[in-house]
Amino acid sequence: MTAVVSLYRDIGSSGPRAVAETVTDPELPALTLADLGVLRDVRVVDGTVVVDITPTYSGCPAMGVMRADLLHALHSAGFDDVEVRTVLSPAWSTDWISDEGRRKLSAAGIAPPGTAPVRLSGPVPLQLGPSRRTAACPLCGSPDTEELSEFGATACKALRRCRSCREPFEHVKEI
Ligand SMILES: [Zn+2]
Repeated sequence: MTAVVSLYRDIGSSGPRAVAETVTDPELPALTLADLGVLRDVRVVDGTVVVDITPTYSGCPAMGVMRADLLHALHSAGFDDVEVRTVLSPAWSTDWISDEGRRKLSAAGIAPPGTAPVRLSGPVPLQLGPSRRTAACPLCGSPDTEELSEFGATACKALRRCRSCREPFEHVKEI
């Protein structure tokens, strides 16, 4: 599954949806929250801009930053009355990252995630054990890569190195 159906319609380039879509992810700044699939809905209810976001990892510290960044962006654009709601279902997985988001990751030298493992609904537990994930090098395309560390700069990314071009790169882990 790669297609993510847009749940809302654009209401103009200066509308609250367009503003919310400019907010980037604190851990993957190449991606907007819309690219990431975290931004689920933006609507106006009785004059209040209501934004729905879905947590990535349960207890992910980035969620508080996302919320603050959304509020800041919308307030700065003149939307005074903003409510950011957390929606738990359907649960987020890396499959929600859009094709555009995957292109942006590759362009930033970060290997996009493969297909997420099948699991039941609910918040995503952060896997602490070793993984058997693999990823092609985003720089030269070689599949001959090795994992250097389960965690890169942030918990959602592993650090890998390409055996062909020798360059290290980050990989967004499938969850
Ligand atoms: Zn390479």
